[in-house]
Amino acid sequence: MSLLFISDLHLDPKRPAITQAFYHFLETKAQQVQALYILGDFFEAWLGDDDDTPLYQEVIEKLHTYSTQDGHQLYFMHGNRDFLAGEDFAQRCQATLLNDPYVLSYNHSNYLLMHGDSLCTKDVDYLAFRKMARSTQWQQQFLGQPIEQRRQIVAEIQDKSQTMKSLKAADIMDVTEEEVIRIMEEHNVHNLIHGHTHRPNKHTLTIKHNTVDAERWVLGDWGEKGWYIEIDDSGPSLISFDI
Ligand code: MN
Repeated sequence: MSLLFISDLHLDPKRPAITQAFYHFLETKAQQVQALYILGDFFEAWLGDDDDTPLYQEVIEKLHTYSTQDGHQLYFMHGNRDFLAGEDFAQRCQATLLNDPYVLSYNHSNYLLMHGDSLCTKDVDYLAFRKMARSTQWQQQFLGQPIEQRRQIVAEIQDKSQTMKSLKAADIMDVTEEEVIRIMEEHNVHNLIHGHTHRPNKHTLTIKHNTVDAERWVLGDWGEKGWYIEIDDSGPSLISFDI
């Protein structure tokens, strides 16, 4: 059995081909594995568990079928665009929410899983916003407003400097290498899997006190191509397919 990892689908009613590609992926490739890990920015914008966008209701149904009828484990980590997905959402699709970062042990190796936004430490303004927006106080205040008002706030954000910047982040920055090394040393791993940067690749790096080369695996965003990482007995591979 193997594990699958995806991120950055940015599911959006305006991009039906991506949604269809995801459903096909769930019904084919994802059926062959033990677990599917969604590592953030799965939705283009998730504004709270009362978000009634019809597409999102349909996606939740599909995820629920995948994890219950089909019997697969399903894990969901927040990205910068869907960090408001909460326990109610998780319950409805029978997924387990994962903290970022999360250490996954599989086949005698440890993999550090992250969305990847917190690795882009050069974006100081964004990190300050991220810290604020992950606080209970900020979330209660934001989620306390009617959904229509939340949508409006996000739609207007481009001209504003503060609120909801995260949900409109341009995802243009790359990670800071020092931060990658720091967090891998902190968690004592030599495998990292993340998304966010839209720069799918495998990087090799050297970590202090480690005799083996460390590997950083970066997922791609779904557009003309879809991307996933599969870990099987021979280790991870990064795979793309046409959409
Ligand atoms: Mn992101």
